[in-house]
Amino acid sequence: VSKEEGGNRVTKYDPTLFREEEENLSIERELIAAIHRKELTVHYQPKYVFNHSYSPGLVGAEALVRWNHKGRGMISPGIFIPIAEKSKLIVDLEKHVIQSVVAQIQKWKAEGVMRGRVSINISMDTLFRKEFVPYLVTLLSSHNVEGTMIELEITERIVMKNEDDLKEKLQRLHKLGIRISLDDFGTGYSSLSYLDHLNIDILKIDQSFVHKSMTQSGIIAAIVQMAENLSLEVIAEGVETKEQAETLADLGCDRMQGYYFGHPSSPEDYEASFLHSWSRDDGFS
Ligand code: C2E
Ligand code: MG
Ligand code: MG
Repeated sequence: VSKEEGGNRVTKYDPTLFREEEENLSIERELIAAIHRKELTVHYQPKYVFNHSYSPGLVGAEALVRWNHKGRGMISPGIFIPIAEKSKLIVDLEKHVIQSVVAQIQKWKAEGVMRGRVSINISMDTLFRKEFVPYLVTLLSSHNVEGTMIELEITERIVMKNEDDLKEKLQRLHKLGIRISLDDFGTGYSSLSYLDHLNIDILKIDQSFVHKSMTQSGIIAAIVQMAENLSLEVIAEGVETKEQAETLADLGCDRMQGYYFGHPSSPEDYEASFLHSWSRDDGFS
């Protein structure tokens, strides 16, 4: 048995870059096909306002792309998004996601169940395409969807590389009513000066701080205070337990997203579980 284990270990941890590259190439090839065949889907994870006085209320959702691969099963975006970003496939992928989200909002609006905003993760390549804003304008108006129903999540990496161009780009998005949030906040190495002059509306506290919220409450409190001083909203991601939710509320962060409130789910499940019971009187006790 031990021999077998040893053997397995060698193949499993074989560090040849070659193999990884080959693997990535094959994922890339299959991703192209998957985008064309529309095999990527979008799941929705609810965002809540949670404090001690009221029962939690739904404030929106985050759209998260999913790839259900025939042979490999569910492939995590954590794996294929970085590959798509390297190969520029990301622009086609995100076009597909944005289109799917806007069509979904149109449907929820028509059914009278649309609540809050839906946020979409956007990469640098998509954001800086010349056609991006005109594309959004056309898409929104053809689906009768207001910009106020959309939020775009960008990361600090984007901010660091493009401060000047970004300001103008975000201004144009703002004029459409679209809001901008800074995802995984606190994990990058950027200077904080941009927070003051870029049109950023929301800081999304990274889940690593949330998971250590009992011991790292000082960091969360500092982010909340800074956000308040700069008139930014804050939301915490990755909230998994009632204790974390209560700690965050105590620290002044009352917007939350995480498995405690709901997992990312298909549009049908999201609608049934969250949109049709958006004021959760049944409570999270
Ligand atoms: P993100 O934007 O920071 O999204 C949050 C991730 O945390 C999601 O992983 C979500 O499923 C997961 N999550 C939510 N609540 C909890 C929780 O309570 N505990 C834990 N441990 N995790 C939680 P997911 O869906 O695997 O996505 C990973 C990343 O892939 C996203 O991180 C985002 O950066 C990227 N991504 C997903 N969809 C898109 C997309 O359409 N475009 C781009 N550019 N990136 C995307
Ligand atoms: Mg995100
Ligand atoms: Mg995040």
